[in-house]
Amino acid sequence: MPHNTPACPQCTLENTYPDGDHFICPDCSFEWPQQEGSEDAQADEASKVVRDANGNPLADGDAAILIKDLKVKGASSVLKKGSKVKGIRLVDGPDGHNVDCKTDLGSLLLKSEFLKKA
Ligand SMILES: [Zn+2]
Repeated sequence: MPHNTPACPQCTLENTYPDGDHFICPDCSFEWPQQEGSEDAQADEASKVVRDANGNPLADGDAAILIKDLKVKGASSVLKKGSKVKGIRLVDGPDGHNVDCKTDLGSLLLKSEFLKKA
């Protein structure tokens, strides 16, 4: 079996051993929880990736282009297809609105499915 017990985070010695769901350092008696499920956490992270209409991942600071006209609540005008939005910020907004961005009509929450990475 490979030795995959991490070094003690407190004293950095490596005589550590697992005990239940914790690791224990016999040198300084430090105990700390084993990091189980870190792969699950990564999977969670991956599933939260916000993708544009073409399935490309979007990131904070990206610029994007609208792929359809969007009516804006409270505004008399429409965000036109082809409008460019800059400096997007990924958010967890209501109704699947997951992109906060600056548009010609001000700062708005949009859905990534109506955007195409510029
Ligand atoms: Zn230690």
